[in-house]
Amino acid sequence: MFRLLATDGLARAGELITPHGTISTPVFMPVGTQATIKTLTPEQVAGAGAKMLLSNTYHLHLRPGEDTIAALGGLHRFMNWSGAILTDSGGFQVFSLAELTKVTDAGVSFRSHIDGSLVELTPESVVDIQAKLGSDVMMPLDECTSFPTPRDYAREAMERTVAWAARSRAHRRMRGMGRQECLPHRRDETRAENTINGGADIPVCAQALFGIVQGATYPDLRVECARRLVELDFPGYAIGGLSVGEGPEVMNRMLEVTVPELPADKPRYLMGVGPPDDLLDAIARGVDMFDCVLPTRNGRNGFAFTSTGIIRMKNARHARSTEPLDASCDCPTCRNYERGYLRHLFRAGEILGMALVSLHNIAFFVRLMEDARRAIMTGRFKEFHAEFIQSQTER
Ligand SMILES: [Zn+2]
Repeated sequence: MFRLLATDGLARAGELITPHGTISTPVFMPVGTQATIKTLTPEQVAGAGAKMLLSNTYHLHLRPGEDTIAALGGLHRFMNWSGAILTDSGGFQVFSLAELTKVTDAGVSFRSHIDGSLVELTPESVVDIQAKLGSDVMMPLDECTSFPTPRDYAREAMERTVAWAARSRAHRRMRGMGRQECLPHRRDETRAENTINGGADIPVCAQALFGIVQGATYPDLRVECARRLVELDFPGYAIGGLSVGEGPEVMNRMLEVTVPELPADKPRYLMGVGPPDDLLDAIARGVDMFDCVLPTRNGRNGFAFTSTGIIRMKNARHARSTEPLDASCDCPTCRNYERGYLRHLFRAGEILGMALVSLHNIAFFVRLMEDARRAIMTGRFKEFHAEFIQSQTER
């Protein structure tokens, strides 16, 4: 399901083939936690160039529940998104959002952050939930440690993550992914054709389960985890537990030891990252896939990522500006609106401001990946990376 097309140093350009389209990599996935990219319609998100989204198993399991989503035709149809979807395992949310979390080798139990009810997740149930959601890529339950984590606990969590990965894989194989299971992938035929993939006929039963490398900030644990997961042979590998406060230097070091352990012919996905600098640093170290709430969360706060750096829309200096948000962007926000108006929307607390900047930010992240890909294909990624850092003067 992954084709490597070009390399430039360690940076890679490839294609991820999913039941909902062929995704050019490096790829950035906007985050639709509750089966929606906040403030935007799926049509707007697709219009900004995004071809793959991330949605959160933890949130959708709690509300509305995977059975409801399956009854409504699966996640794609439920949210009217014809592109690809990756669902995370819920592990990160369990450890960051839930209360009274209890971890045993069997799985995790916790109190829902919504209504306090007791919820249990096991490696097996997490696969079942995602099978019902019908995402294109699913993640196994893992234990994501916070930063800093003592070495002993980091090892324990890593061991559990590997054991859970093996159980997830075995369970997925045992229950099979027969045609019946995969029906939710299919969009209602009365809806528009899947334009992202040119309506090509792609087998619908190809939900891929990735492995997740943990090991906190300990290089030897990262290496060991990666090797043991590779032995289990997953169609893709995620690197989890980073960007949790360890800083870019440590994160880059972890990537430098982890990525070389992963097979060249499988996609590599850095979970929950990040700002543009971190994305390019990770691409330079051989990562192909990313997701992060930054473009939308910061967009709702009036922080715009632009070709000249971060612009704060609430800043008084934009009050009478007739400039577009980003002169070198052709997104609907930059084509149709001026900074003075956007600033007014933020000052007045209007939702449209949040939507317009979120839309621009997504377009910016998508274009950053496209530009990086083009640079890799033409053997000038290093120059592109340096030029980008130099261009970010506005802070
Ligand atoms: Zn724009």
